[in-house]
Amino acid sequence: MYIAIDIGGTNMRVGLVDTQGDPRILKLESRPVPQDYQVGMAELIDCIAQVSTGAEIEGIGACFPGIIDQDDMVTTANNLPDWAQKPIKQTLRERFQTPVKLIHDVQAAAIGEALYGAARGRSRFVYFIWGTGVGAGDIKKIDDKRYFMFSFENGHHIMEWGGKLCNCGQRGCPEAYLGGDMLREYFGQDMREISDDDPRWDLIVEKAAQTILNTLIFHPVDLFVFSGGVITRRPFLLERVKPIMKQRLELFPLPEMVLAEKGDHSALFGCAGVFQIDLIG
Ligand SMILES: [Zn+2]
Repeated sequence: MYIAIDIGGTNMRVGLVDTQGDPRILKLESRPVPQDYQVGMAELIDCIAQVSTGAEIEGIGACFPGIIDQDDMVTTANNLPDWAQKPIKQTLRERFQTPVKLIHDVQAAAIGEALYGAARGRSRFVYFIWGTGVGAGDIKKIDDKRYFMFSFENGHHIMEWGGKLCNCGQRGCPEAYLGGDMLREYFGQDMREISDDDPRWDLIVEKAAQTILNTLIFHPVDLFVFSGGVITRRPFLLERVKPIMKQRLELFPLPEMVLAEKGDHSALFGCAGVFQIDLIG
């Protein structure tokens, strides 16, 4: 059994994951994540100790929303700056005397889907985040033990020269139209209050179709797995994108497009899954 840790911008979740047979999360604890690293690490240790009581732990996998270097050190963490450049891995390893792996949260979620979710048994797919931000990863299975993952910023390719201003400073990026904050601004209220048949979705559907199509041209795969706060709350968007893509797409067949099967548990499964494979990239 493994301890899986998902440290997000606001909450940290600690799960006990059994990867034998049909993988399951046996216990799950969630707490607000303290900005202060020392306080946060003490809470995390306490939480792991509780969740792991009575279980034989083979490893601890943790994911983090920041940049992680070759030595599993968080180098940049915009939402949790005090957690950067801290010995997270070493501290957990010494305290629990078990192997520890630290990975990026998007990588963890993609691995969760690759091994146990919507892309199980597939040789290659694109993992597509459509939430506050837009981004993606191209995941390729090399053999049973090795996966290659290439993450890329498809949310910031310029699809409309001189278009809408994006948070990144460029104009005409997909994220400027599709990102969660941008949608709130566009509708003037929370998108959850907008009905599915509101005509203002038309522009969003069109921009999403263009973004997915452009992504497919650079990453010709037969499966796209979607996750993130926007698409999981409004899955009808995916159904509306498909006919438009079908109409415009000439170079490749329309890929299968589905939501992440493990939902917001993908990253937790991936944190346990990193002990089953080597992730290259
Ligand atoms: Zn941008």
